[in-house]
Amino acid sequence: MLENAVMLQAFHWYLPADSKHWTRLINQVPHFKEVGINSLWLPPFSKGQSVFDVGYGIYDLFDLGEFNQKGTIPTKYGTKAQLVDLINTLHSNGMLVYADLVMNHKAGADYIETFAAVEVNRHNRTEEVGPPHDIQGWTGFNFPGRNGKYDNFIWNHNHFVGVDYDVKANKPGIYRVLGEGKGWAQGVTNEQGNDDYLMFADIDHRHPEVIGNFFKWSDWLVDDLKVDGFRLDALKHIDSLFINQFAQHIKLKNDKNLYIFGEYWLGDERRRESYLNAVEYDVDLFDVALHFNFQDASLSGTDYDMRKIFHDTLVCEHPLLAVTFVDNHDTQPGQALESYIGNNFKKQSYTLILLRKDGYPCVFYGDYYGVTGEYPMDSYKDFIDKLLFLRKRYATGNQEDIFDDSNCIAWIRHGKEPQASKLIVLVSNGTIAEKTICLGTKEAGSTYYNYLDDSQTTTLDNEGVGVFSVGKSFCSAYIKKSMNA
Ligand code: CA
Repeated sequence: MLENAVMLQAFHWYLPADSKHWTRLINQVPHFKEVGINSLWLPPFSKGQSVFDVGYGIYDLFDLGEFNQKGTIPTKYGTKAQLVDLINTLHSNGMLVYADLVMNHKAGADYIETFAAVEVNRHNRTEEVGPPHDIQGWTGFNFPGRNGKYDNFIWNHNHFVGVDYDVKANKPGIYRVLGEGKGWAQGVTNEQGNDDYLMFADIDHRHPEVIGNFFKWSDWLVDDLKVDGFRLDALKHIDSLFINQFAQHIKLKNDKNLYIFGEYWLGDERRRESYLNAVEYDVDLFDVALHFNFQDASLSGTDYDMRKIFHDTLVCEHPLLAVTFVDNHDTQPGQALESYIGNNFKKQSYTLILLRKDGYPCVFYGDYYGVTGEYPMDSYKDFIDKLLFLRKRYATGNQEDIFDDSNCIAWIRHGKEPQASKLIVLVSNGTIAEKTICLGTKEAGSTYYNYLDDSQTTTLDNEGVGVFSVGKSFCSAYIKKSMNA
């Protein structure tokens, strides 16, 4: 991994369904390169249920906006040709591309099948609420619009563990598919009794044909599309045994050092550790615990103890496995896991992921450009660009933490030779605060200024001691005045 690499989550939930997003991103690649973005996590680019599908209602793995299916040739984001164009543009600018793999479920089946199933309690999926009986479910996928190109696998009810509707009885519910060796996966958490079932036709990852098809798909994305890594969706609902097999397959298959990271949406440290162990530490994870600490800080305001901001986080326990982030398409207002960080702590959160030594930070498109419409979000582009500048040039070398106050924490990045400035960062919970910090006698007489708000300066005394304050953003990042920023 490149030092101080930064990922961009290149979408949010409410992008217009105009099939022009790949083109928009192509036009922005020079800007991304200039500000220091190294990789893009693209939205799921396989055909979903319609042109409005964000990508998580996935229909056909092998239709990337190429075939007339579900009433559209392009996906919400564009055509396959435009996607290929985007990937080539990113690569020619030295950037990496991560594909979002939705492997938990499939939606929008082509036809109904009749099969044996049993309804279970929505709140406890291990409890059956009726006798086994034949139901009709949307489980047949033969992709007539693609007609076998790239892949001729036809999905049927044997490839799924559960469905959400009995067509015969016209009854929604959660139905577990019956059959020899079938049942909910064991390598999931016991939330709701068993957390295998998430939505739509939920996939059986023990079925050898399913495993083979996902291996084939990922190989195709690497060989033909040239993606550089995978973001795995909804991991806590997928058998960890399969994810372990999948990660081993990716490792064995290629010599390209593909990057694999995933969404395991639990802040709980014990379950996270058990999961990492089950997948042999071969999958990096989003730092969900850190996101919830940020949310807690945002909600608690000046009552929040800043010294606890990294408590029980992945980036603290396993710095090399953590993808740090502030918000995403699920946490943004109006979405399934809504838990966005309020404006009172957004700048602090980005400072805490972008100027620290550990973690692979991921900037959210919605925070970067803002979101308009029913669920608006502010744009933090100018602020994040400043942090990216500092990250690339000054957030290097040893990190010295000054976590000595519940309202305000600070750290020093000592830099590497021949870099001529240290970086001093302060973050507060909304309190105006200052700290007296000694940078050593070599720094005596130097003037430092807050790059995030350049009205603030401090000149160090003969001992190299200065008073640094957080400023009106409740975060500050000081570099030496003589530096040409
Ligand atoms: Ca599942």
